[in-house]
Parts: sequence; structure tokens; C-alpha cells
Amino acid sequence: MVGIVIVSHSKQLALGVQELAAQMVQGKVPLAVAAGIDDPENPLGTDAIKVYEAIAAVFSDDGVLVLMDLGSALMSAEMALEFLPPEQREKVYLCAAPLVEGAVAATVAAATGGNIQQVIAEAQGALVAKATHLCLLSSPLSAVSSHPITTEVATREIRIKVSNRLGLHARPSAQFVATASRFQSQIRVQNLTRNTEPVRGDSINQVATLGVRQGHELLITATGIDAQEALQALQTLIINNFGENDSILELTPPPQEFTAPTQGELAGIAASPGVAIAPLVHYQSAAVAFTEYHIENVNIEWQRLQAAMQIAKQEIASLLSHTSIQIGDAEAAIFDAHLLFLADPVMLEAARQHIVEERLNAEVAWQAVVDEVANSYRKLEDAYLQERVDDVVDVGRRVLRILLGNAPTDLELTEPSIIVAIDLSPSDTVKLDPSKVMGICMTSGSATSHSAIIARTLGIPAVLGVDAQVLNLPNGTLMALDGESGKVWVAPAPETLEILEIKRETWKIAQAEARKLAHQPAITRDGSHIKVFANIGSVTDAKAAVSHGAEGVGLLRTEFLYLERTNAPTEQEQLEVYQAITQVLDKQPLIIRTLDIGGDKQLPYLSSSVTEANPFLGVRGIRFCLENPQLLKTQLRAILRASVGNNIKIMWPMIATLTELRAAKAIFTQVQEELRQAGTPFDENMKVGMMIETPAAVAIADQLAREVDFFSIGTNDLSQYVMAGDRTNPRVATLADALQPAVLRMIQQTVQAAHAANIWVGLCGEVAAETLVAPILLGLGLDELSVNPQAIAPLKLAISQLTITEAQALANVALQQDSATSVRELVYPIG
Ligand code: PEP
Ligand code: MG
Repeated sequence: MVGIVIVSHSKQLALGVQELAAQMVQGKVPLAVAAGIDDPENPLGTDAIKVYEAIAAVFSDDGVLVLMDLGSALMSAEMALEFLPPEQREKVYLCAAPLVEGAVAATVAAATGGNIQQVIAEAQGALVAKATHLCLLSSPLSAVSSHPITTEVATREIRIKVSNRLGLHARPSAQFVATASRFQSQIRVQNLTRNTEPVRGDSINQVATLGVRQGHELLITATGIDAQEALQALQTLIINNFGENDSILELTPPPQEFTAPTQGELAGIAASPGVAIAPLVHYQSAAVAFTEYHIENVNIEWQRLQAAMQIAKQEIASLLSHTSIQIGDAEAAIFDAHLLFLADPVMLEAARQHIVEERLNAEVAWQAVVDEVANSYRKLEDAYLQERVDDVVDVGRRVLRILLGNAPTDLELTEPSIIVAIDLSPSDTVKLDPSKVMGICMTSGSATSHSAIIARTLGIPAVLGVDAQVLNLPNGTLMALDGESGKVWVAPAPETLEILEIKRETWKIAQAEARKLAHQPAITRDGSHIKVFANIGSVTDAKAAVSHGAEGVGLLRTEFLYLERTNAPTEQEQLEVYQAITQVLDKQPLIIRTLDIGGDKQLPYLSSSVTEANPFLGVRGIRFCLENPQLLKTQLRAILRASVGNNIKIMWPMIATLTELRAAKAIFTQVQEELRQAGTPFDENMKVGMMIETPAAVAIADQLAREVDFFSIGTNDLSQYVMAGDRTNPRVATLADALQPAVLRMIQQTVQAAHAANIWVGLCGEVAAETLVAPILLGLGLDELSVNPQAIAPLKLAISQLTITEAQALANVALQQDSATSVRELVYPIG
């Protein structure tokens, strides 16, 4: 007989439903309950293990039907399936039917000996009787009663104006959704100015398509036990302009003067300035052609889609890290929004419905939902939001490619070229190598698309929206484009070429001037040399760092060598990467941070089975390495071997005690001794430093400074630990801010301790890339700043324009402020 499982946040509710269903059939059907959590203070919730146990209790080869109430009940049930052996899993069906009616109907169907499909059908049709009844009694137009529903759960609301410059564009929408999703309450939001319908606050697509711009008024309602807290958090987010500083947002297209094309020219949209002349190469994203078919087992199909989405999430997360290091955090945020698309409950529910109700294969179900969402963006009046179609399509295509088992298309160019494409997704664009891609010519897109923003950041000239005839040109055709006027020339005439070459040379000279400055040391007006280094995660990043004028690498995040693998990199593999980076750096210093895993960066092949309640406060960084000394020793051997004839320094992450530092150094000395014994050469004078990332390290900085050669302050972590604000939680983003006076005072203390011990101190957190903040940081006495490669030139320029005396005065004022906001007001232009 088919077994039935009832999953609910409330134990009382689940037991009530069980009682109701059981009394219909005099207890003949195996019914189990998985409800509530084992927390006497807060018993409402669901637990995957309980769901798993309930399924196991009623399991038979006839199958099990699982009915769930809301939100996390679905996640817990899905997770529980993961725990089952595959042969059992395929006999368990998660059912979208309403909990009470579905449970009763399913139980009755099971008791009469119905097979699993019949039981599912009965459960899914369970609302029909009620709906029909209500239609007859009230509105003939609606199956849902239009009378206000009285509920015991509080509903609260706020009305609030959005005042950040671009309104709820991609990043703020993402923050809104991330914040709304953290509460149990159901959040709904409505754009009063545009008179929209209320939409779900946990759906990125629904929130973004509200078309909220600066000055629009929102009505936000929250229903549930934590309604007030939820509204407060959303209000804080909006009042704080989503943590955006509008003056540093570069989302608007460059000014464009339109001149009509003359003969031989094609007109497009100027998206990224500069002139390119090169043979064209066509680029096509991975093929995603698929066929429609009907599936037998809806569970397997749903799991197939979920597995593909999981892989897509991993791919996007690594793209996000890559972009944040190599291009910048603002550009990386684009991929935050991509991750939210994949977590959008409305999209998930729609895809699941296509699979379960229409028995469509995952590809068709997924594409239908992506098309629907993309169309809802296209319908908006707002040009900026219309551009988000690119992002939806990008994510959609990624999942399809994975479903179809196609490998990603990487563009391997052998010579400098202009890329011609219908469109380039943001994912495609971040992977372009600016040393090979001279220009971008697309037949779709606009200057506000994410691809255009990335092209501008990478300094690649681009013209978009060009006539589709360019798609028919053979590869290798000479093409020229001017990203300032938005014009494209195919096989340009010699006289046009001559003019364009002059323009290109002028542009290149201007660029070279800017680069020259970037390649000069950064010296303040009163003569202090501040070292400007780069944060990198790969050999490619090292190349970008050098070409942008880095004087060395201040932070090599070695965890990127360990991510996206099934086992740890060997000593030889690591050695090769470190050597390749030193070659690129050509004797400039390279600071290699030992593995900083844990927190939000987990390695499935190394993680222990114990789940940490607070991973950021758990076994991460040096703690993890000291628990896994063999792993650390392998890395240290690779670093030491790479140090021969090179300027490599080692840096320990997350040190909180002298004992940890000494333990790490003892392992280091041991590895050195072993290499000596084996006659393996290494740099005997290698400098060893540590990151200052914990308040504990600041408190004992005087003691630590006596044991190392340098400090580098990691403000990303230091801020979260000083302010007790998770760096990944947007609700506390304004707290976990390196410009909080409390954090600035920690920086000051660290610098004082370092200088008293005659060691240098740098800073490699994200705040160093905020060029307007440079005077405050230098006023606090830092000797080195390490930033993403793209930020080097503007930072050097900013340093060359200040004096240390003025900077010190400003830093003193900053230390006395009452908030990060007032510190920012000291340096950011008003308005
Ligand atoms: C930091 O914490 O500031 C830092 C640079 O390290 P990561 O961001 O890699 O934790
Ligand atoms: Mg850190």
C-alpha cells in the first residue's frame, strides 16, 4: 500500500492532518509525520532528517507520497530524498497538492488500493471540490474566495520611498530578495507609484520586474511570526540605499554623440570607447538545441533539473570569485543576481509544475519558464530593467547546456581579433582576454547591458546593436570599429583605414599615458612611496596585475587552486602554478597566503562530516591547516621549492593566537629542515608574515609583530569579526563595513604595533580599492595597499594627488566619526 508523509512546520498541524486523514480510513494507511524542530524556544520549522525517517517508516515498494506545507518544508523534503538510496528515491514522490485536502484525498485513494499514480492524481485534484463549491456560492469568476481571509498570523506593512539612484536594479533587487528570504514571514511588495500588483519578495524576477526606480513608493507587507523584524530589515536596507554609493556606480553608458553613418559604415550603439582594427572571429555560445518529449518518472526528471541547477550554481560561484578578483566587486555582483535567479521559488515552482503536471522533459520545462521570465522583463518600459533579459537568458542557457551535457565554449583566440556575435552573455564577456580581444561587435544588446559594463571595465572597445548582416561575413574579414561613435566598417577602404588608424593610435597613446602612470611607483605629493600590489587567484590574474601596473602581488588566494576539484592539488601541481606566477611577476614580490578554507569556502573532498553551526567562527584558515598538517606541509613544500631565485613571501590567514602562529611556524621550520636534508634548494631568507583578520590579533598585535616580518590587514574579515556582522549577509552589510570607526581604530592600533616593532603593514581587504578612501587609509599609516588589478591605476592616481600630512588630518577626523556613513561623507562628493 502507498505510504503517506505529512511535512509541516507545526507538529500540531501535522498531527491534526494525520488524525483527520486516518479517521477516514480507520488507520489502514501507513501515515507518518515529520513536523517541527527540536528547539523548545522556537519549535516551528522542518528538518530533513525527520522527513527522511518518516519516509523510511512508511516505505514500501508501492511508493510514498510526501505532502508539505510551505517554504523550507519543500527544501527539507528535497534534501531528505538525497539521503535515500537511489532505488528507494525513485519510489518517493513530492506532491504539490494542498496539505489538508491532499492528505485526506491521498489517504482515501491509498486505502482503496490505488497505485502511486492514482494516489498522486487524487491528491492533486483535491481542491477541485472546494473550488467548485465556492464558485457556486460566491464569485463565479474565481475559484478563490474574494472575502478577506482572517488569519491569526500578524500581517504588517510599511510604505517607503526608494531613493538610490537606479532604484531596484540588479544588485539592490538581489539584496532585497536575500533579505526577504531570511525571514519566515511571507513578504509581498508592490510598487505603488506604478500601481503594480503585489509580488513575492523572495522572487528575484518578480521584484525586479516591479520596475522600481528612484523616488518610487513601495508597499511592503509581511505575514508571519517575524513580520516586524523582516520589515525593519528591509526598511534599513532601503534607507541605507542598499549600501550603494551612487558616486562610484558606473552603470550609465558613456555619453554618445550620434552621427549618421556614411557609405560603407554600419551604425550601432557606442558601448565601450576605443578603436579596434582586426580580423573578425565569430563567437557562438554552446549549442543548446533540444527536443520535447514526455517523461515517465516525474521525480527523476525533477531531480535531473535540480542537479543541473546545482552544477550551474557552482559554475556561477566560481565565475563570481574570478570576476571579483580580476575585474571588481561591482561587476561580480552581476553573478550574485544570477545565483538568485536559480534560487527564485517562483521559477522553481513553475518548472516543477511543467514537469509534474505536463510530464515535460526538464529542458522544455526549464526553457518555458526562462522564456516566460525573460518576456516579463521585455514588457517593462524601463530600458535598464529590460536589459536584465540578458542575465535571465544567460542563466537559462547555462542550465540547459548542463542538462544537455555540453561542455562550455571557451574562446581560444590565436591572434588579436574582433569578436562578432549575436550577443555575448555576461558570463562570456568576463572570460574574454583583453590582450587578444581587440573589440566586440554584437548585433543585439545596449550600452546598459551587463556585457557592455564589463567590456568598459576591461577596456575593450565595443559597438552593439549592429545590423545582422555582419553575422554572414567570413571569419578573418578585416573589420574596424569605433566604440565612441558606435560605427563599424567591414573591409574598410584604405582612406577610412588611415583615418581610423590615426584615431586608434591617438587612443592607444592616451591609454599608454594612463598605463605609464600606472606603471610608475605611487608617490604622494610629499614624497612617500606607497606600494600598490594586486590581489590575485590565478596565473591569468597575475598577468592582469602586471599589465595594470602592480608592483607585486600582495595576496595570492591559494584556495582557488583547491576549489572545483575532487582532490587536493599535488605538490607538483602547486609548484607549477607558483612558478608560472613568479615568471609573470619577474622578480616582483609575491605574497602567497596559505590555504584559507572554511567559512564560506568549503572543499567537499576535505570537509569533515560535522556541520558547523557558524562556519565563519569554525575551523577555517590556519585552524583548518593546523588540523590537517599534511595538507599544509604539501603546500609549504611547493611554495618553498618555487622560491628559489624568486621573491616569494608566505602569509598565514586567520591567526587569533600566538600559539597558532608558533605552531604554523614550527611546521614551516620542519618543512624547511626536510628540504635541506633532501638537498632541495629554497630561499633560506624567505619572509613570513600574517594577516590581521581577527580582533584577537589586533589586541595582541605587539606580541605577534615580534614574530613575523610583516602584517597585511584583511578588512573583509576583520570588519565582520569586529562588528559581529556576517560578511555574506546583506542585512548587516552596513555594519560589516571597513569604514566603521571601530574598524578604523583597529587598523590604527595594528599599524602602531607593527611600526613599533619595525615591520611593515599593508591592507588587502576590498576597502583598499575605494580610491576616495585612500587618504584615510594612508593617514592611518599603512605602507602597502593590495587591490584587484583593475583598481591599481585609479588608486595610484589618487595616491599621487595627496599628501601624508593632509591624509593624517583626515584620518584623525574619520576616527572620531559616529558611523561608516559619516566617514564616507568625509570623502565622497555630496549629491
Ligand atoms: C580579507 O579578509 O580582507 C581578505 C583579504 O581575505 P579574504 O577576502 O580572502 O577572506
Ligand atoms: Mg579574509
